[in-house]
Amino acid sequence: MSPLDKEQMQGLRQIRDFLKVRTSYDVLPLSFRLIILDNDLLIKRSLNILIQNSTTPDARLLGPDAEADRTASLDIVSAPIWDSHNSTFAGLLTSTDYINVIQYYCQFPDQLNQIEDFRLNRLRDIEKAIGVVPLETLSVHPMQPLYEACRQMLKTRARRIPLIDVDDETGRQTVVSVITQYRILKFIAVNNENNTVMLKKTVREISLGTYTDLATARMGNTVLDVIHLMVERNISAVPIVDKENRVRNVFEAVDVIPCIKGGVYDELESSVGDALSKRADDFPGIYTCTEEDRLDSIFDTVRKSRVHRLIVVDNESHLKGMISLSDILKYVLLHGEEDEHA
Ligand code: ATP
Repeated sequence: MSPLDKEQMQGLRQIRDFLKVRTSYDVLPLSFRLIILDNDLLIKRSLNILIQNSTTPDARLLGPDAEADRTASLDIVSAPIWDSHNSTFAGLLTSTDYINVIQYYCQFPDQLNQIEDFRLNRLRDIEKAIGVVPLETLSVHPMQPLYEACRQMLKTRARRIPLIDVDDETGRQTVVSVITQYRILKFIAVNNENNTVMLKKTVREISLGTYTDLATARMGNTVLDVIHLMVERNISAVPIVDKENRVRNVFEAVDVIPCIKGGVYDELESSVGDALSKRADDFPGIYTCTEEDRLDSIFDTVRKSRVHRLIVVDNESHLKGMISLSDILKYVLLHGEEDEHA
C-alpha cells in the first residue's frame, strides 16, 4: 500500500468510527419543520403543500444559523405519510411518486379525470398498474447508530430514511424526521474536516461515479422524454448537453414538481429548456468537477454548498461522468471493507 493509500484508508476508517458513535438524532438541525401528510389527502393537494413549504425563509430573519436553516427548509421535496385510521407510518412521499403518477397518466390518458381524485393511499396501486417495483421504505429508530442507518440505506437503494420512534407504553409510532443522503454527507463534511483532508486521491484514481452509458438529453427534448429516461434507467438526474456533448444544465427529478403543479400535465410536452427556465430564483446551480479533483475538495464543496450531485467534465465542459451522493456515501462507507475483514 502506498503512503497515499494508507492515509486515504485511515481517513475513511476515522469517518466510519465517527459514524458509529453518532445517531440519526445528531444529524438533525437544532430546529426544523416536519410536514407529515395524511394518507387520505388528494395527491394534487400534496403537491401544492410541498411547493408551498419549500420556499426559502428570508435568511435575515433566521439569525446566525441562517445557512443551516435555509438548507433544512429547502430539503422538503418529500414527506412522511401518516395513516390516521391505524395511527401508523404509511410510507414516504417523494418526487418518484409524482413521476409514477405521470407514467400512469401516459399509460392511461383517458383516466385524467380520475387521477384528479386520487389520494395518497392509491400510490401503491399506481405502482402496480404501471409495473414499477416499489421503492423499499425502511425506517430506523433515531437512536440507532448512524453507521447502521447508512449501511441500510445503501443496501436498499433508499435515498432517504424516515426516523420512527415507538412509545414504550402505548406502542404507538411517532415520525421524528427524515434523514437524507444529502444531510448525512453534509454532517460528515462539517464534522470531519480533519479526516476529509486525508482523502487526497483523485476522482479518477478511486473511480468515483459513473462514466459509461450515460443518460443525457438536449434542451429541445420534452420533459416527458427525460422523465421516461429517468424511470427507465432508475436515476434521478439527466445532464442536458449540446451537440458537442458540452454540459448546459441538469434536469433533476425535483424539476418535475413545478411542471405538474395545479394538475396541468400539458407542460410535460414542453421543452426541457422551458422547464428549467422556471426554476426558483434561489436555485443553487449545478456543480461540476474534473477527474483530477481530489475527494477532499469534493468534501469542501459539500461542506460549503447545497450539492446534490456533481457532473464530471473535462476542461472544455464536455460531459465525462456523474457522481451521485450515493456514489460518495458508498465509497466512504464500503471502500476496502472486505480487505479490512479479511
Ligand atoms: P439521489 O440523487 O436521488 O439522492 P442517488 O444518489 O442514488 O439518488 P442517482 O442519480 O439516482 O443518485 O444515481 C444512481 C446511480 O446512477 C449512481 O451510481 C450514479 O453514478 C448513476 N447515474 C446518475 N446519473 C446518471 C446518468 N445520467 N447516466 C448514467 N448513470 C447515472
